[in-house]
Amino acid sequence: MANEVRLRFPPSPTGYLHIGGARTAILNWLYARKHNGKLILRIEDTDAERSSEASIQGIIDGLNWLGIDWDEGPYFQTDFTADHQAAAQKLLDSGKAYKCFCTKEDLESKREAALAAKDEVRYDGTCSKLTPAEIAQKETAGIPSVVRFKVPDRPGAVGYNDLVLGRIEQQYSEISDFVIVRSNGKPLYLLCNVVDDIRDRISHVVRGQDHKDNTNRQILLYEALGAPIPFFAHMPLTLDTNKAKISKRSHGEIVAVQWYRDNGFLPWAMVNFLCLLGWSAGDDREIFSKEELLAAFTLERINKSNAIFNYKKDDPKFITDPKLLNINGHYLRTMDLGELAVLVKKELEAAGIWQAAYEAERKEWFLTTLDMTRERFYTLKDFVTQGRAWFTDDFEMCPNALKKNILKHPELKEWLPELADRMDALAVFSAEETEKVARDFAEGKDIKPGIPINGSRAVLTGQIKGPSMFEVFAHLGKETVVRRLREAGKWFAE
Ligand code: GLU
Repeated sequence: MANEVRLRFPPSPTGYLHIGGARTAILNWLYARKHNGKLILRIEDTDAERSSEASIQGIIDGLNWLGIDWDEGPYFQTDFTADHQAAAQKLLDSGKAYKCFCTKEDLESKREAALAAKDEVRYDGTCSKLTPAEIAQKETAGIPSVVRFKVPDRPGAVGYNDLVLGRIEQQYSEISDFVIVRSNGKPLYLLCNVVDDIRDRISHVVRGQDHKDNTNRQILLYEALGAPIPFFAHMPLTLDTNKAKISKRSHGEIVAVQWYRDNGFLPWAMVNFLCLLGWSAGDDREIFSKEELLAAFTLERINKSNAIFNYKKDDPKFITDPKLLNINGHYLRTMDLGELAVLVKKELEAAGIWQAAYEAERKEWFLTTLDMTRERFYTLKDFVTQGRAWFTDDFEMCPNALKKNILKHPELKEWLPELADRMDALAVFSAEETEKVARDFAEGKDIKPGIPINGSRAVLTGQIKGPSMFEVFAHLGKETVVRRLREAGKWFAE
């Protein structure tokens, strides 16, 4: 099975799935699915302090919510320490690595000397020249040592053809003999990651550009361990509009996939958006079904330049990247109404305004309400914020209703209850009939129809925009319309 396509997602647990990590997982997943390959979830849990069960679960929950499934794992790096140590021993035995007894102070003074001489700061290879007798003597004396990989001492460069970035090379002479096992015996990331990729027969390593500089050293490890070298593809970093890395510390919860789950986003909208962070189909398309993505996706179309997550922390208008809001809004508007109803039910329950009737005698009414209102909504939360008045009398007036002159006619305080009486007298409470009443009413008062109509919208829905007002009258129903118009006075300051 030499040509089997096998990819991996190997996060270091942090307690949550970072959107950059999610993007990495998604692109690996797409490639694996497109090529009938396998995706392996591997938790790099060697940092004991950060790798609690809860922090691992945070990653798994995020992937599950997104619908990113994997074929093997989760494997845990700490379960394979013996493999990592065996690989280090193999390198030592074959003379491709050596024990280094230099102390921190030794290394520091070498570093300073190199800096002073304007030389490159690289380990000078002192310990690579130790004889077996010298090594034995130091070990008997109990001097601690690390294991360093011996970079081949030859002219030329190590390199690889990055599927995104093209040829990447580094002169052997520029690479310092690097540490692969700490003095406490703990193998380090560069080695563990390669050993795991070899064991898992990974064919494609698709990861962030922050690992680009590790790759040449890792290729040296593959060569030294006699293993085939996978393809590499490095994806652009995800930066904010100021070109800074997005992190929980500086950007808050919105960097975590879980935040989107808890704030009314749809998993597929998130997958669709994250794919576009650093990848494009080569045309203007922004909406992709799973099938369309699978058809369009290639590693070669991953962008070389930084991906910008367009989030301005200080702009309260957008809770997250507006492109994500638009994509989420698109899916809200086009998804199956029955499926939407299940999701909105959860929101209404959480807000304490769910009624069992919405699944019984008022089911049709409920579905129509969702269909009427979703045209303007971007997240599921909008159903319980902007859409709240459809489900309860206990709603707030949007501040714009006052600002935009809508409730600024003091006469409306009397007019709207009068309009309520006219509405109450209607035998057929339809969009046509309520429109007639509203227009007649305006004519009788010699005012623009917009004044009572917009005023009604505000006191009936708490909003200044929404579906056709006559549809709103008809669908809210006579009882609610009449009651809320009669109580219009409560929205006007004394
Ligand atoms: N644990 C590493 C990370 O989360 C994995 C890097 C890799 O894909 O090799 O960045």
